[in-house]
Amino acid sequence: MIWNETMECMNRQDLQKLQESRLKKVVERVYYNCEPYRKRMQEAGIIPSDINTMEDIVKLPFMSKQDLRDHYPFALMSSPMSEIVRLHASSGTTGKPIVVGYTRTDLNIWNEVGARCFTAYGLGKNDIVQISYGYGLFTGGLGAHGAVETIGGTVIPMSSGNTEKQIMLMHDFGAVGLACTPSYALHLADVLKDSGIPRKEFKLRVGVFGAEPWTEQMRGELQERLGIRAYDIYGLTEIIGPGVGHECEYQNGTHLCEDHFYPEIVDPATGEVLPEGSLGELVFTTITKEGMPLIRFRTRDLTRLTYEKCACGRTSVRMSRILGRCDDMLIIRGVNVFPSQVESIICEMPELEPHYLLIIDRVKNLDTFEVQVEVKEDFYSDEMAKMLELRKKITHRLQSVIGIIPDIKLVEPRSLERSQGKAKRVIDKRKFI
Ligand code: ADP
Ligand code: ZN
Repeated sequence: MIWNETMECMNRQDLQKLQESRLKKVVERVYYNCEPYRKRMQEAGIIPSDINTMEDIVKLPFMSKQDLRDHYPFALMSSPMSEIVRLHASSGTTGKPIVVGYTRTDLNIWNEVGARCFTAYGLGKNDIVQISYGYGLFTGGLGAHGAVETIGGTVIPMSSGNTEKQIMLMHDFGAVGLACTPSYALHLADVLKDSGIPRKEFKLRVGVFGAEPWTEQMRGELQERLGIRAYDIYGLTEIIGPGVGHECEYQNGTHLCEDHFYPEIVDPATGEVLPEGSLGELVFTTITKEGMPLIRFRTRDLTRLTYEKCACGRTSVRMSRILGRCDDMLIIRGVNVFPSQVESIICEMPELEPHYLLIIDRVKNLDTFEVQVEVKEDFYSDEMAKMLELRKKITHRLQSVIGIIPDIKLVEPRSLERSQGKAKRVIDKRKFI
């Protein structure tokens, strides 16, 4: 099902024209309403009338997370505060948070793109959806909430945590959709199993998972454990929140809502725009937002884009799974390692649970790399030889893919800490040295 066929299936020439007129407007908006933008454009020697086609976008300077921090809290607003009706802040990292302001129009845009997502997952007004993303400054909860209300579905505004109760209400209310992080969904699956309530008593059919990287293999795990179809939802606070992109029934790439968020892929080191299909850093320009539009915002997320038409009929660009953020890449003994590579291997091994933790340290000037992973109940054994054999097998698999030898620590099922929001699967102790 398609929420907004006119926009989602528009022919690409018309789409480009629309993007161009929107781009011109947003560039004028920030130039005349927002001092820091005007200054940056002046420094780059450009004025709004220099921007006429999508190709002209490369003339505009990039924005980074640091720019948002430097202008904390409100200096990047392009609307007067009297027009701002909502604030959100990015969940993450240390230091000052990143604050984003929404006008009424921005909230409508957010609901619109969110509605596209949930419709693409096959949900509609007859469906009850449990929202187990955190509510609050984090955009996950309220973003998904607005989306489900917009399609006319019934929202269960659970937020995260209180996992036993989540299962009880999911069962009693007959939730058909579940929206949360993939790592929390994994935990919910365990607790559901423990509840002893037979799966057939649940109506759950669709998972709406995002806010953190997850692999194809993790999708397999979640679909099997929960007996659902698991779909990707992508978004980031700076751009709007969840709803920047979504999968369709073909699950072969995440469609981006390009009529609102114009994507580019650039070389993370040089900023050069890369040709279609290249792996690089995703950059967005919000071409319709009013409160805090961002021009060429560097997401740090690594992915590729394809403009090939999808079998679902949507003409929008699709991105492949996010490999991770540039900052997630670990350099261990000089070798680049993404946690998602480790996840793929762990999920492929039948002896292992998809729960793992990577611990990196430096001892006597040498990097150490420990992978803690839970062994499945059926395979966990007191027999030393069996466990050593399994350890050898994992070491070998990981080494062949990532190129370095990890130190595998097999741990008992259910011993690693469970996540309720974004999982923390890496502890890099070298950062504290
Ligand atoms: P923070 O940067 O503090 O985590 P956000 O909640 O805005 O704040 O997180 C957005 C980031 O979460 C994205 O830039 C991306 O790295 C990650 N993310 C969101 N959705 C997905 C997804 N579907 N797949 C992979 N990563 C995602
Ligand atoms: Zn599609």
